[in-house]
Amino acid sequence: MSHSECRHLLLSQSEVGHVSICAGCGQVHVSLQFVTLRLEPEAFRAMGQLLTEGLLRMDTLPRGAVEGVGAKPSGELH
Ligand SMILES: [Zn+2]
Repeated sequence: MSHSECRHLLLSQSEVGHVSICAGCGQVHVSLQFVTLRLEPEAFRAMGQLLTEGLLRMDTLPRGAVEGVGAKPSGELH
């Protein structure tokens, strides 16, 4: 793989990792603590939708349906 003109633009960042896109090769880098995923932009978009949908579903599970998951007590940080 030649990355002669890799130039990473930071897209988002939090305590769990960061997402950047390479202006040279166009790949999206999803960097978590122990793993980095490199995805085509369309694959990243599809993954984002997948994750968002999963998250929405998880947050609508009835409290108690899954251990530790469900409606969160408001104001609780961890
Ligand atoms: Zn690159």
